[in-house]
Amino acid sequence: MPTPARKLLIAGNWKMNKNASEGVELTADIVGEVGTETSVGIVLCPPFTALESVGRTIGDSNLQLGAQDMSAESAGAYTGEVSAEMLRNLFCTFVIVGHSERRQLFHEDDALINRKVRAALANNLRPIVCLGETLDHREEGSTEKIIDHQVRTCLAGIEPEQADQLVLAYEPVWAIGTGRTATPEMAQEVHAQIRGLLHEQFGAERAERIRILYGGSMKAENAAELLAQPDVDGGLIGGASLAARTFVPIVRAAIAETG
Ligand code: PEP
Repeated sequence: MPTPARKLLIAGNWKMNKNASEGVELTADIVGEVGTETSVGIVLCPPFTALESVGRTIGDSNLQLGAQDMSAESAGAYTGEVSAEMLRNLFCTFVIVGHSERRQLFHEDDALINRKVRAALANNLRPIVCLGETLDHREEGSTEKIIDHQVRTCLAGIEPEQADQLVLAYEPVWAIGTGRTATPEMAQEVHAQIRGLLHEQFGAERAERIRILYGGSMKAENAAELLAQPDVDGGLIGGASLAARTFVPIVRAAIAETG
């Protein structure tokens, strides 16, 4: 359950799914159902190739547009990369940074993720900074240590005045795309740890305004109990974000939690 200072946020990460016209169709369905909703934030993160058309379909509804990644560089000879400024130019508001698939498959480390977070903030993009332990980490009891290191390194050098632009997402790697979800208590424990680290860096008032999303097999069936936790301020949704019939009920669970 959010404090009044934090509006719940539900973000859909489509990953490498949906071409531009499929993206338009899905977006139109979601806009039709919850496009006028103001009590929760709703963000769609399509692949780069669908950003423009999805953005147009979002139009002046209350949904917002996000990208799934960006370059830490601002311009130049970086074949295949997309800059923060290019994303702003397509009316993106958010960008996912440090997703575990980027970390595992594309070898991104916390230092690079920190550079991306800084580049996003410098360009008025709101980074959704992903954190989370692997199954090995959890089984060997090092979750707390890993999260501590990820938060401190990924947010190094971010000033308290920039804190309001940040969103964090706790995504235990073993829960992503596996159907295994952290129990609400497990999620709350890590979210509370992250909140404590944010207090240290940004001070209590600002830390209490930063949203910490949960991600990892969140769906309509488990959303309500996860969102009821005091430090769970929304969800980053993968698989269930690919159809309105699975995504919209999660948004509705967030609305009910707010209500
Ligand atoms: C994700 O990729 O951010 C994610 C949470 O995926 P899923 O919901 O499919 O586990």
